[in-house]
Amino acid sequence: MPFPQFHNSEPRTTVSDEIALIPLWSIAAALVCFVFVQYVFWVYMPAHRHHPPLAPGLHAFFSISWGEYAALNALAIGYVSKDAVRRGMGAAFWMLICLVAPGGVGAVMYFLLRQPIISKCPACSTEVHAEYHFCPQCAFQIGNSCGVCYRSARVTDQYCVYCGHDLAKDNTPARLRAFIG
Ligand SMILES: [Zn+2]
Ligand SMILES: [Zn+2]
Repeated sequence: MPFPQFHNSEPRTTVSDEIALIPLWSIAAALVCFVFVQYVFWVYMPAHRHHPPLAPGLHAFFSISWGEYAALNALAIGYVSKDAVRRGMGAAFWMLICLVAPGGVGAVMYFLLRQPIISKCPACSTEVHAEYHFCPQCAFQIGNSCGVCYRSARVTDQYCVYCGHDLAKDNTPARLRAFIG
């Protein structure tokens, strides 16, 4: 059986991985939001119809910044719709929070409260969180840990940083797992 990649914390994802999560519909929605805001600012409520009239420069600034704000919200909701699923969180609930909480507060709350990404145990396919060391169903070792105190060990460590145990004496030393994976 091939050994999986081991990790003790959040799997490393690149910025482009994260951007790839944003679904097409939310990119389309972002464009529509931006265009709609421009319509409101330039057609429905142009600068001269404000009381008192708005300076053209300020009007342009507001139209762009409000347009960007609306577009970013649409992108955030799209991202949350995908990201929440891979973390076992209620996607609809969090999309609604992002939609109704003003000023991007919903998105900030989401990033503060989001759970770790869920992956599958390579031995029995049980859903496991990234911080688990062992599978709760079959005891398969998922993460690197010290063979004595079972706390996290990094693959580069020679000795456990908590109890000083020589990690090379473990059955499968943490630092060898990096090469197996
Ligand atoms: Zn398992
Ligand atoms: Zn230890």
